[in-house]
Amino acid sequence: MKSKNGPANRQLIRDINQNSLLNLIKTEGPVARTRLAELSGLSLATISYITGDLLERNLLLESGAAESTGGRKPVLLEIRPEGGFAIGLKLTEYEIIAVILNLNGEIVYSERYSFELRDHGKQAIFLLAEQVQALIGRSGLARAKMIGLGLGMPGLINSEKGICIDSPILGWYDVAISEPLGDLLNMPVYVDNDVNSLAIYEKLFGQGQPFDHFLTITMGRGVGLGLVINGDVYRGGLGGAGEFGHTTVIIDGRQCECGNLGCLEAYASDWGILHTAQEMRGEEIPANSLQAPEHEILRLLDQARAGDIVALEAFRLAGKLLGVSLANLVNLLNPQLVLLSGSGAGAGSILFDPMHQALEAHTFARLGQEMRLAIEPAGDESWARGAASLVLRQFFLSPVNGGI
Ligand SMILES: [Zn+2]
Repeated sequence: MKSKNGPANRQLIRDINQNSLLNLIKTEGPVARTRLAELSGLSLATISYITGDLLERNLLLESGAAESTGGRKPVLLEIRPEGGFAIGLKLTEYEIIAVILNLNGEIVYSERYSFELRDHGKQAIFLLAEQVQALIGRSGLARAKMIGLGLGMPGLINSEKGICIDSPILGWYDVAISEPLGDLLNMPVYVDNDVNSLAIYEKLFGQGQPFDHFLTITMGRGVGLGLVINGDVYRGGLGGAGEFGHTTVIIDGRQCECGNLGCLEAYASDWGILHTAQEMRGEEIPANSLQAPEHEILRLLDQARAGDIVALEAFRLAGKLLGVSLANLVNLLNPQLVLLSGSGAGAGSILFDPMHQALEAHTFARLGQEMRLAIEPAGDESWARGAASLVLRQFFLSPVNGGI
C-alpha cells in the first residue's frame, strides 16, 4: 500500500496548489507573491517555488511594481494569455464548431464545418481525434501549448467519468469519451452537457463572474438551462438537472420531442413557435418539423415584426410560457442573475415583452427586484467557447470549494 505522503500524493498536492495559485493570479492579478501567500495560506517558499516553475513554463508574466510601503518594490505576477491554449468543440448532429481560447478565455482561432456525427458512437472517437489534430495544424499554434480539449454536447453526460450517457440528438448512448480520446490525443479531455459548459464559461469569464447563484437559459433548437448554485454547476443525481425545456407548461398539451405532452420546449423552441403558427393557420405540420430550419423561424420573426397577427401570437405565447416557467425557477432558486442566451434570444421584444410581463406577474414578493436579467443572443461559437472553458476550469481550479 502506498504511503499517504508518497510521491503520487505529493505530486497531487503540488498540482492542486499550482492550479489554486493560477486561479488566484487570474482573479487577483497583477498580484505580488506576498499577497498570494496571504490569500492562499501557503508559505512564501512554496509560492516562490511554484510560480518559478510557472514562469519557466511561460504561463505567467512578471510585470510592474505594486504599491510598496518602502524598500524594494515587489514584482507582480499575472497570467500570460498566450502561455497555453484550450480547444473547445461543440458537437451537433451535422456539424462541428471549434474554437481555441487563450488563458484569458479569448478566441484566438475558430472554424466550423459539416461533419456527420449522428449514430457513429465509438467510431466517432477516432474521427474526432483526427479532426482535432487537423484543427491544431490549421490553427498554426504550437501543439505543445494545448492544455486540453473540452467537448460540449446535448444530452445526459457523466462529466466526472467523461461518458456520454444519453444524447438523443446525436444518437449516442453510453459512449466513453474522455479516456479514449485523451489517450489518442495525449492531452486531458473533458466533456459536459453543452448548456452546463456555457454556464461554466459565464462564471469564469462572462457575466456570471460576480455571482454565485445564476441561471443560463438557452433558446433556439431547444430550451436549455445551466444552473450555477453556490458557485458551482448543479447537476443533480444522474447529472441531468436543468431539463427546463421539459417542464410541463400545458397539461395534456402538444407532444414534445421527448415524448411527453405539454413541455415548455414544445411551445418556446424554434420548432415550438413554428408549430403554434402552423396550427393557427391550419397548415399541415411536416413530419420532420422538429428540426426547424433557421430560415423558417427567421421568416416568422420578420412576419411578426411586420405586424402579422399569427406570427405575433406564436411568439407571444412562447414568451408568456417562458415567463411563467422562469418565475417558477426564480421562486424556487432566487438567482442573482438570469442570462437568456442562444440564437432564440435574438427575437427581441416580440418574445421578451410578454415574457417580462408574465415573469413579473408570477414572481413571488421581492425575489425579482434584486435580480438582474440579461439578454445575450449568442451565436454557435459561444457554445464551443463554453466547451473550451471546461479545460480552463480545471486549469484555474478554485481553491475554496472545488467550484468553478
Ligand atoms: Zn419534452
